[in-house]
Amino acid sequence: MHDDVHTAQRTNPYQMAVAQFQAAADRLDLSEDLRAILSVPKRELTVNFPVRMDDGSVRMYTGYRVQHNINRGPAKGGIRYDAEVSLDEVRALAMWMTWKCAVVDIPFGGAKGGVIVDPKQLSMSELERLTRRYATEISLLIGPTSDIPAPDVNTNAQVMAWIMDTYSMHRGYSVPAVVTGKPLAVGGSEGRNEATATGVVAVVRMAMEDMKMPLSDARIAIQGFGNAGGIAAELFHDTGARVVAVSDRKGGVFDERGLDIMALVDYKKKTGSVVGFPGSQRLSVQDVLEVPCDVLVPAATEGVITEANVGRVQARVVAEAANGPTTLEADRVLFERGIHVIPDILANAAGVTVSYFEWVQDLQSFFWTPEEISAKLQHIMEKAYYSVAKLAHDQNCDMRTAANMVAIKRVAEATQLRGVYP
Ligand code: NAD
Repeated sequence: MHDDVHTAQRTNPYQMAVAQFQAAADRLDLSEDLRAILSVPKRELTVNFPVRMDDGSVRMYTGYRVQHNINRGPAKGGIRYDAEVSLDEVRALAMWMTWKCAVVDIPFGGAKGGVIVDPKQLSMSELERLTRRYATEISLLIGPTSDIPAPDVNTNAQVMAWIMDTYSMHRGYSVPAVVTGKPLAVGGSEGRNEATATGVVAVVRMAMEDMKMPLSDARIAIQGFGNAGGIAAELFHDTGARVVAVSDRKGGVFDERGLDIMALVDYKKKTGSVVGFPGSQRLSVQDVLEVPCDVLVPAATEGVITEANVGRVQARVVAEAANGPTTLEADRVLFERGIHVIPDILANAAGVTVSYFEWVQDLQSFFWTPEEISAKLQHIMEKAYYSVAKLAHDQNCDMRTAANMVAIKRVAEATQLRGVYP
């Protein structure tokens, strides 16, 4: 059995993103000029910066902000704090953000940021100082009309509030629209915290309807128990589906009768991990991908479904809450095995969609009700899902290629219309 997801994570995510782009570009018969423009990031900023630790010492950190493409609107994308962050990872995530915004047709380009740090090793005040300094360093790029960050792995609403405050201090007035995923009290939106998970459940429901299988009868396995995976577990549980396995970074738990998710959430709050949940069977982080289930939701990190383990995936539907969880080889095998993969740029696009709602509300200083958010989100996700599913059917291709085709066509059209300056 595999103890660590990292053992499987050796594909370079940027090479993976470019190869996925080329596959869709081939089907679109995209010109060489457009391929050349769209296959590289527009801007890449690397920052090395000092942070004062609680003991008075100074430590250097490295961070990035990459904008892939901004032809359809301001750059948009999360900020990740992780020891594994690399420039190629941020490049890949920025490119996926461009396609994600385009597939749901919201007027943003793609960006991503990251800092190489294990935030669990920092105190709260060290984390705040790191965040404020990183925000200052990347303020060369970020702004409410230029580039709008959001939470990603190991960042949350509090981190967004610090970024918003730092940016606002430099201006001398409050600029809530500079980041999304903020707390409600400082211009956040209803529904943002649970948006990504809500969208994952919505697209799984649509897929299962097409397969004539009620979601309430489904067994669900989820890798990752944070904002995306943890809330998805709660929402799946609410539908009556059985969540049979979940994992976090430390390991996983399994119960074929279905885990009591509310009790598990409490248990994780108390102990810091799902591991050891009473009545459950222990799994490794990788095992969770291989349990008997109907729906598998990778919701942790990139490159976890690989050539090595794809043969053991037992699900009928894979809904990619995480970005880039499936390698190119594994993707091909899943398609050949008839497993319905709902690709990341579609499956987790509700997060950026409600971020878009938050940004619009901040710019207007006029806030919407949860019902308005929910109805607008549902409409966007349905439109996107069915347009991708139809194209996949018409082209006899996988959902990822179809989603990329829908997205790349939109970005290519904007790029073509704007022309090459000067
Ligand atoms: P998070 O930090 O809230 O939770 C991450 C979870 O995954 C945690 O349970 C953590 O223990 C686990 N994890 C992290 N790295 C791991 C690793 N290397 N191996 C095994 N488990 C690991 O992060 P999140 O916001 O839920 O993001 C998870 C994934 O979803 C990422 O790929 C992210 O890009 C994607 N995503 C998130 C959002 C959002 O709105 N938060 C939106 C779109 C996509």
